[in-house]
Amino acid sequence: MSDAVKRLQAELEETLADLKAVEAQLEERPEFGLGTGSTGAFTWEMALARKEQLEEKIETLRELIARAEAGTYGICETCGKPIDPERLEAVPTATQCIDCARKHVRVA
Ligand SMILES: [Zn+2]
Repeated sequence: MSDAVKRLQAELEETLADLKAVEAQLEERPEFGLGTGSTGAFTWEMALARKEQLEEKIETLRELIARAEAGTYGICETCGKPIDPERLEAVPTATQCIDCARKHVRVA
């Protein structure tokens, strides 16, 4: 198993644990009406947003693990060149090389 896969799997496990914690938080759904603006409702909404983020991340990680197993992890989706290993270490979910990522998030 390559280091990249190990890293992705560790990240996936961590994210799954986070998701479990958030789900437990969501089960304690407070009683709240619309527009009450209570702290409980706010916290609950934050947890819900976090859950969606985590689910998205889990999906990305699973896709990346599949890619790593197929031997295409670390290849830029845009230009097909290998992504800098240092970048992958810092951002394991990167699917673009630094050059393409820069172009992608270019500030007008
Ligand atoms: Zn690229």
